[in-house]
Amino acid sequence: MSETIFTKIINREIDAEILYEDEQALAFKDINPQAPVHFLVIPKKAIATINDITKQDRELVGHLSVVAAKVADEMGIAEEGYRTVMNCNEFGGQSVYHIHLHVLGGKLLGWPPY
Ligand code: C5P
Repeated sequence: MSETIFTKIINREIDAEILYEDEQALAFKDINPQAPVHFLVIPKKAIATINDITKQDRELVGHLSVVAAKVADEMGIAEEGYRTVMNCNEFGGQSVYHIHLHVLGGKLLGWPPY
């Protein structure tokens, strides 16, 4: 798989406002926020899309939600609520081919998202 901009963020080759990091995952503020609070949670392992997740990745992918909830709490949006989204491929609106969980909150979000 070719390297994406998120690998560069993990390796500190480009800047990001990092909110959380552990051995498996990283959370950082989205550079183009779509809500008052908008951050991304990514695995350090480069997985291109949801379609590429394997059984061996189950714990890792679950961990992304654990990190999302922890950082959402720290950002003060847990009680009012927030949305997590993982876009897949063109029709899903994916632009960076390294899976990432969007976490959006800080306002009442509309549904459906189009
Ligand atoms: O789901 P999708 O692939 O479209 O989301 C990619 C997200 O990565 C966008 O919300 C974009 O603003 C964000 N991004 C970022 N920092 C970068 C490049 C992209 O936060 N350097």
